[in-house]
Amino acid sequence: MKRAGSDAAVLKPAEHKSEGFKIYDTLSREISAVSASNGEFVRIYCCGPTVYRDAHVGNLRTFLLADLVQRTLAFAGVKSQLVQNITDVGHMSEDFEEDKIIAQSKLEKKDPFSVAREYEARFHQDCRALNIRAADSYPRASECIDLMIDSITKLIADGLAYQGEDGSVYFDAARFPSYGALSGNRLDALKPGHRYEFTEGGAKRFHADWALWKAAGSRSEMIWDTPWGRGFPGWHIECSAMSLKYLAGKVDLHIGGIDLRFPHHEDERAQSNSLIPGGGEAVTLWLHGEHLLFEGRKMSKSSGNVVLLSDVIARGIDPLAIRFCFMENRYRSQMDLSWSSIQAAHLTLERWRKSYQSWLKSPANLSERVNQLIAEIASAFNNDLDTPRAMISLRGIERGELEDGEKRALFEALDPLFGLDLLKQREAKRLTKEAEALLEKRKAARANRDFKLSDQVRDQLSLLGIEVRDTSEGQEWSWKIN
Ligand code: AMP
Ligand code: ZN
Repeated sequence: MKRAGSDAAVLKPAEHKSEGFKIYDTLSREISAVSASNGEFVRIYCCGPTVYRDAHVGNLRTFLLADLVQRTLAFAGVKSQLVQNITDVGHMSEDFEEDKIIAQSKLEKKDPFSVAREYEARFHQDCRALNIRAADSYPRASECIDLMIDSITKLIADGLAYQGEDGSVYFDAARFPSYGALSGNRLDALKPGHRYEFTEGGAKRFHADWALWKAAGSRSEMIWDTPWGRGFPGWHIECSAMSLKYLAGKVDLHIGGIDLRFPHHEDERAQSNSLIPGGGEAVTLWLHGEHLLFEGRKMSKSSGNVVLLSDVIARGIDPLAIRFCFMENRYRSQMDLSWSSIQAAHLTLERWRKSYQSWLKSPANLSERVNQLIAEIASAFNNDLDTPRAMISLRGIERGELEDGEKRALFEALDPLFGLDLLKQREAKRLTKEAEALLEKRKAARANRDFKLSDQVRDQLSLLGIEVRDTSEGQEWSWKIN
């Protein structure tokens, strides 16, 4: 369990009275107070990555949202518990032909579980590089199959789910009267043929029903035995089963990207509300982050404009420059990222850290106006994560008229809230002459089809902290993330 203020500032600012943390709730469409229903800690669930590829910085923008929520609560002395699932089975590709992980495992000629574990490890690396605090648990879908079987068994017993002629088990959407409340869709207005994660010719009773469990058919990997035969889980049931189990039957705040609002979260709400005793909402508040665009278009693999954190690092840019850019924009607005804004953020961060080092000559001074500024910034975070306003204040502090000791005290007090590592000197890594020569040597070895030499050089580069990959466009390299 996270302890409040576990990474408290070097200096403790004077007690500031928190007016309470509020966010925009997608279900009620209102700004609503975040609170701990058990009176002890706020229970948070954030939909995690599908581990068939590296998370792009758009995905990371959504994962950062959970971190900003946790830091805001911790700063006000409120405890929280965060669960984030790892989707390593059941998420079908856009054309619904194949499980994303299995499709990737065929491409990489590897076992699907090893593909999943590899990308999961890289997801954790990326989160660390962005100072995203670790969740309290990361349950994997493939290791929670029993939980899903229990949930589906209960839904069938209660008459909310049924097995179709094709052997798959479906949720009976018409049995959940408030279906559509989250996304604004109405069941009777949904057109037949709308995609619901799977194509299944006529086995569903109603076109809006969705698969909780999918019969294996010809699939031979990532399948399990169940009372309804061999198969694999649907993506939506995974999040209901895991959130209710790991957060003891109640989610105070559920987080995800805006594209998950429908159908993923709509279906999850129907399942979870049907699974908890006594009716009511299993999730109190739904928080959705808007999409990241890159150079004008939504960042996605299909748009071909994906930027990875390793691409940022490979350019010698501090990965926290990405965090900086995200915080300059409100989570609820689409934001357009570009290399020039990332570069500018990098330079500002460098300057702020240098400034902080120069203020160290003066003793930290927690004056009254310093406490006032801390309270104002905390209140911006509390106000539906108004991080752009908080960033403007921080800029003002660095450039403003305060004494050095006051500026020092402010940076020290606020660093745990912003998570920008303002108190450390961080050097951007540049390629050494030796590394440049080795990269050239490897390129030449590959051109000569001398793969033995190219593998040797790859190992030498690895010792220098450089990772090389061979793509259709040739050799690419990046710094390994620690
Ligand atoms: P996935 O790994 O595809 O399951 O997605 C992980 C998270 O990233 C989900 O919460 C998505 O809603 C979110 N997401 C996907 N694309 C973007 C984007 N361009 N900007 C922000 N969040 C995104
Ligand atoms: Zn989910």
